[in-house]
Amino acid sequence: MQIIIFGSPGVGKGTQAKILALKLCIAHISTGDILREAIKNETELGKQAKAIVEKGELVPDEIMGGIIREVLKGERCKNGFILDGFPRTVAQAKLLDNIFTELKNKKLYLIRLEVKDEEIINRLTNRLVCNKCGNIIVKNDYKDNYICPVCKSVNSYYKRKDDSEEVIRRRLKVYYDTTEQVFGHYKKIAEIIEIDGSQNIENVTKNILVKMKSS
Ligand code: AMP
Repeated sequence: MQIIIFGSPGVGKGTQAKILALKLCIAHISTGDILREAIKNETELGKQAKAIVEKGELVPDEIMGGIIREVLKGERCKNGFILDGFPRTVAQAKLLDNIFTELKNKKLYLIRLEVKDEEIINRLTNRLVCNKCGNIIVKNDYKDNYICPVCKSVNSYYKRKDDSEEVIRRRLKVYYDTTEQVFGHYKKIAEIIEIDGSQNIENVTKNILVKMKSS
C-alpha cells in the first residue's frame, strides 16, 4: 500500500502518519525528519539543508528526489509506505510518478487533512518535540525533568527552530504558493481521502480508516 499524507504544515500529517504506519504495517517516511536528522548529525545533506529548513523554505527538488528514491527502493519500504512531507512541488510529484512505475503500480491513496490557518499557528507555536522519538506535546504540559511518555527520555523536548510565528507564516505561504498545486496532480491517479483535521487525534485516525475501507 502506498499513501501520501497531504496538507499544510501543522495539520497533523506526522502524527497521523505514525499511527497509520503502525496500524497498517508500512513504513513512515517523513522528509522533514530525514532532513532534521541530517542537520543534527552535520552530514553533507544537513549542511546543505540547514539554513533553508530554518527559514521555512524548500530544499531543492534534485536533493529531495535523490533522497526519496533511495529510501522508497530500500528494504524498509517493501511492504508499502506512508509519505509525509513529500511531494511538496509538482516537479517532486512527477519524479515520484517515475519511482511508482518502477515499484510496479500498487494502489495509491492521498489523504488530505485540512485545518484553518489560525488553528495551525496556535498548534505550532505551542508544540514541543522529543528529539529522541519525535513525539509531540503542548508547551503547557512540559515541566523540568519531564519524561517522554513514548520513549522515556528525560528532558528531551525542544521547540523546532521553524516553529516561530514568523517562520510558520513563511511555511504556510510556501504551502499555498507551491505545494497546494500538487493536489491537482493526484486527482486522477490516486484514491483521494479528504478529512477535517481539526478534530481530536483518535477521531481523525478513525475517519481516515473508515474512508479508506469504503473506497
Ligand atoms: P516538515 O517536517 O514536513 O514540516 O518539514 C520541515 C522542513 O523541511 C520544511 O519546511 C522544508 O524546509 C524541508 N522539507 C521537508 N520536506 C521537503 C520536501 N519534500 N521538499 C523540500 N523541502 C522539504
